[in-house]
Amino acid sequence: MTNKDYAELDSKYISNTYKRFPVTLVRGKGAEVFDAEGKSYIDFGSGIGVNSLGYCNEKWADAVVEQVRTLQHTSNLYTTLPDVKLAEKLCRAAGFKKVFFGNSGAEANEGAIKIARKYGVSVKGEKCTNIITFRNSFHGRTIAALEATGQDVFHRNFFPFTNGFRYVELGDREALIAAVDNTVCGVMLELVQGEGGVIAADKEFVKFVEMICKENNILFIIDEVQTGIGRTGTLLASEQFSVKPNITTLAKGLGGGLPIGAVLMDEVTENVLGFGDHGSTFGGNPVSCAGGIAVLEELLDEGKLAEVGEKASYFREKLLEIPGVKSVSGLGLMIGIELDEGLTASETAAKCVENGLLVLTAKTKIRLLPPLTITKDEIDRGLEILSAALKK
Ligand SMILES: *Cc1c(COP(=O)(O)O)cnc(C)c1O
Repeated sequence: MTNKDYAELDSKYISNTYKRFPVTLVRGKGAEVFDAEGKSYIDFGSGIGVNSLGYCNEKWADAVVEQVRTLQHTSNLYTTLPDVKLAEKLCRAAGFKKVFFGNSGAEANEGAIKIARKYGVSVKGEKCTNIITFRNSFHGRTIAALEATGQDVFHRNFFPFTNGFRYVELGDREALIAAVDNTVCGVMLELVQGEGGVIAADKEFVKFVEMICKENNILFIIDEVQTGIGRTGTLLASEQFSVKPNITTLAKGLGGGLPIGAVLMDEVTENVLGFGDHGSTFGGNPVSCAGGIAVLEELLDEGKLAEVGEKASYFREKLLEIPGVKSVSGLGLMIGIELDEGLTASETAAKCVENGLLVLTAKTKIRLLPPLTITKDEIDRGLEILSAALKK
C-alpha cells in the first residue's frame, strides 16, 4: 500500500481533527524515519517533542519490552516497581517532594488546577478558585485546560467552559498585580510559549511572578509539558530562570514516546490532595513508567542532557547562516524560526516534507523540537533540506 492508500483509510475512518501531511510513517531509528513507500525523513519534530531519545533508542526499547513482558498494568490499588522508581528518580532530580502520574499534558494541568483550587479554598475560603494564566499560552485541549489557554481561538464552540481563569499579557507587571486579589489561588505559565510561537518569557518577569505569588500566598505553577525533560538544556527550564514553583507539570518528552503526564509538587502542595481527590485508571502505567526511567537514565546518568546545550548552539549558529532565516527564538532544542518576508511557515514545512525533512510550525514560525540525542550528521542533513526549501 502507498502513502495515499493509507491516507484514504485515514480520512474515511479517523475523525478529521488533524490536518495531516500526505505521509504515512512506518518505522524509525534515531532522528530518521521512513514512510510506507520507503522514503526517508530527518525528523526535527520528534513527534512534537515526545521522542526525546529519538526513534527506538535501544536501551529505552529494551526497558519497555522487558516491562511489557513482565507486568503491563495493575490498577492503582497496588504499587508497582516502575511507578515508584520513576517517582523517586524524578522527584530527586527535579527537586520536588511528590508526583502524581497521569497520561498527558492536559491531564497534568487539570491536576495542577485541582490542587490550586483545593489549596485556595482551604487557605482563603470558598471564593478563592481563580487562576491567572497568560495571553498566547497553551495548556491543552480538555475543557478546563482550554479555558486556561490564553488564546481566543480556543474559546469557542465548546461552551460552557469552566469559569475561573484570568488572562494577563506575558511581561505586564501592572496587569498581573491588578489581576491578583483574594479570589486568586494560582498563577500558571510556560517559560517558553511553545504552540504560541516559541517565545521565551523574560527571566526577571518570571522571578517577579514568583515573588507576587509568594507575597500573596498564591500557588506558582509552571507548565513544563513542552520545556521539561531536557528540552531546553536543563532537566527543567525553571532551573535556568532561577525559580522554584510549587507545582510543575510534565508530559511530552517524559515517556520517550509513551503516554505519560506528571504533576510535581513541592513541600507546600505535596499533601493538598488526599484519598479520593484525584485518580486515573492508566496513570502510572508500568510500561510508560519504564520508558520514563529509561529516558531519565539516558539524560542524567549517561550524560545525554549535558550535550543538549552544545547541540542547541550548533543548531542556532547554522540556522542563522541560512538565507531566508530572519531570526531564531526559543531556548535549547526548542527552536522557533522567523522567516524573511515572502516565505510562509506552512509552505516551507510542506516543501521540507517533500524533500525528506519533518518540521513543525507555531503561528508564523517554523518550530523545531529535534530529539535530544540527534547527531551532528543528522542536524547537517536536515539543515541542508531546510536551506533548500527556503531558496526562492
Ligand atoms: C502540548 C502541551 C500541552 C498539552 O499536552 P497534551 O499531552 O497534548 O494534552 C500542554 N501544555 C503545553 C505547554 C504543551 O506544549
